[in-house]
Amino acid sequence: MFKEILKNLITRKPSIPFPEGFDIPPEEAVKIVSLREKIDTIFGRSLRIRQVDAGSCNACEWECTALTNPIYDIQRFGIDFVASPRHADVLLVTGPVSRQMELALKKTYLATPEPRLVVACGDCTIDGGIYKGSYAVTNGVANVIPVDCYIPGCPPTPIQMVLGLHELLKKLT
Ligand code: SF4
Repeated sequence: MFKEILKNLITRKPSIPFPEGFDIPPEEAVKIVSLREKIDTIFGRSLRIRQVDAGSCNACEWECTALTNPIYDIQRFGIDFVASPRHADVLLVTGPVSRQMELALKKTYLATPEPRLVVACGDCTIDGGIYKGSYAVTNGVANVIPVDCYIPGCPPTPIQMVLGLHELLKKLT
């Protein structure tokens, strides 16, 4: 058994895209598989994400949660969510950034180690979405902290999120 554990630790198994039945165009499936290689190269086998709810309706969070279920299982690509920004490579922000969350988001950003990447996830994070123009919001993440990548959708699907992360990593290579 010890031998098996050791073998699993040192052998890198190729990542499979997603189970049959998912309607993913071949070119997108290729991107998903290459995600693992990019993470290996840039971050040394793991990418840690701190999700920040900056006033979301919670639907974006449900889709984020689905990323770790047995169907999408992003942990097999070396991606996982962490509880503290101090342990994160990426901040994944949802919501239009309410005025109440503005300072908290800035502090979270500053608590994240370099390279301090930011993904704006969902239409609200782009320009406020359905909350745009409200006195209670800042109309998007870029009005509060720098953004490296946008994932549109209301809410975006888990696969759109995976492809968005791929686009982020592509910028770094
Ligand atoms: S983008 Fe849509 S689903 Fe996400 S927080 Fe905004 S309203 Fe909700």
